[in-house]
Amino acid sequence: MYDDLNGKVAVITGGSKGIGKAIAKRLAKEHMKLVVNYNSDSKGADETVELIKKNGGDAVAIKANVANEEDVQKMLDTAVSEFGDLDLWINNAGLENQVHTHEMSLKDWNKVISVNLTGTFLGSRAALKYWVDNDKPGNIINMSSVHDQIPWPTFSHYAASKGGVKMFTETIALEYAKRGIRVNAIAPGAINTPINAEKFSDPEQLNDTKQLVPMDRIGTPEEVSATAAWLASTESGYVTGDTIYVDGGMTLYPDFEEGKG
Ligand code: NAD
Repeated sequence: MYDDLNGKVAVITGGSKGIGKAIAKRLAKEHMKLVVNYNSDSKGADETVELIKKNGGDAVAIKANVANEEDVQKMLDTAVSEFGDLDLWINNAGLENQVHTHEMSLKDWNKVISVNLTGTFLGSRAALKYWVDNDKPGNIINMSSVHDQIPWPTFSHYAASKGGVKMFTETIALEYAKRGIRVNAIAPGAINTPINAEKFSDPEQLNDTKQLVPMDRIGTPEEVSATAAWLASTESGYVTGDTIYVDGGMTLYPDFEEGKG
């Protein structure tokens, strides 16, 4: 538990399921007040709000597209009107689709970039402006991926978006450090969430993925949310501009495990 989080206000994007939902639940246990964003799954968002209230937090759900400027501003305004402030902004929403790059439509490209990268920019910009205007410290957590460093053929837009998130995180961490605003990213490996449900329901594909993980297992959303809670708290108060890999060792070049090379 991180006592300093008690009563603090956070916006979390993509909170209706998966990693976002797990982070919301974990921050509820820290007694935070949360604006839970969803894009289309209002039932999932309502479930998250209920889960937050049951776990000691307070929450409201808000429908918003992270790629839309007015919607993002609405999320910030909701935090201020419902809970009176903003302490933490988590850019978690993300999506992917598999397609060879030579067959990728501009629509495919723009969809992934606009949610994963532009959405991260818009959310960060809204939060930064609030803290600068009000002369307050703040904290941003961006959801990257191991594919901010591992190339991922047939997902080139996704890899480009997450590579962008990593450098955006570092850049704004530097830009706002003197104002007491910290910015970090979490880069999950293979985590058991709806984004992977189809893949992991096929034993062969599940096994293929596990072979890429030195720890030989798929991660849980709770293992990602524990990292988010630490980054949110003052226990990580001297950490900024970092990307923390929660990946069971996936980024450690597993092919070299037996001393090959
Ligand atoms: P998920 O599909 O379960 O959840 C993604 C969330 O993003 C959903 O709530 C969805 O509604 C939301 N979202 C999508 N487009 C949106 C939009 N335009 N506006 C608002 N919300 C939108 O996936 P997840 O695994 O929980 O992924 C969460 C984050 O973690 C993503 O950024 C993803 O890229 C990243 N990630 C996941 C894994 C993994 O293995 N699950 C690995 C690396 C990175």
